[in-house]
Amino acid sequence: MNNLAPIISEDDIPQEYRRTPIGLLLEYHNLNRPLDNYDKAEILVGMCMDNRKHLHIPDNFAFIIRSGGANLRYSEFKVSYAIGVGQVSHIALIGHDNCGMVNLNSRKNEFITGLINTAGWERERAEEHFMHFAPMFEISNETDFILSETKRLRIRYPKIMIAPLLYLIADNKLYFIKETQAAITGTAETW
Ligand SMILES: [Zn+2]
Repeated sequence: MNNLAPIISEDDIPQEYRRTPIGLLLEYHNLNRPLDNYDKAEILVGMCMDNRKHLHIPDNFAFIIRSGGANLRYSEFKVSYAIGVGQVSHIALIGHDNCGMVNLNSRKNEFITGLINTAGWERERAEEHFMHFAPMFEISNETDFILSETKRLRIRYPKIMIAPLLYLIADNKLYFIKETQAAITGTAETW
């Protein structure tokens, strides 16, 4: 994954994100910044439901929406709630490597058999369920999906700062997914 930028010191945090809740998220999680006290959320985090991930952040610091692949397309009302009522103006979208939402089709039989055996579903209903929902939740690959989801949300919520991140399961650290500067600020430089 050569489109990832590691954050191992404060200098690695891109300028535009420093001293924002996104920069702070990176400092808490990657750089062991001492946890501050918060009485309201500063940021909305969108991340995958996958059980292998845990964020090291202060209490009250973040609203967190977890869904397969960090896909917020079907959680938009909750995103709007965090912004409108929760007053956050920053979103961190966190994908991760080895995500189960990539190539969902390869797990079709496992999914269907599991619903039959574990939940007591009829085969036909389980098959229909998979066929109906898999296309909505399937993602092509983790980093491309997070970049496209970031782009979509920036258009939808133009005043909100949104950062595309990836959580690597091997070291439990957050990485920036590199994007062109043009995508962030409208200029033509490459980051
Ligand atoms: Zn996942």
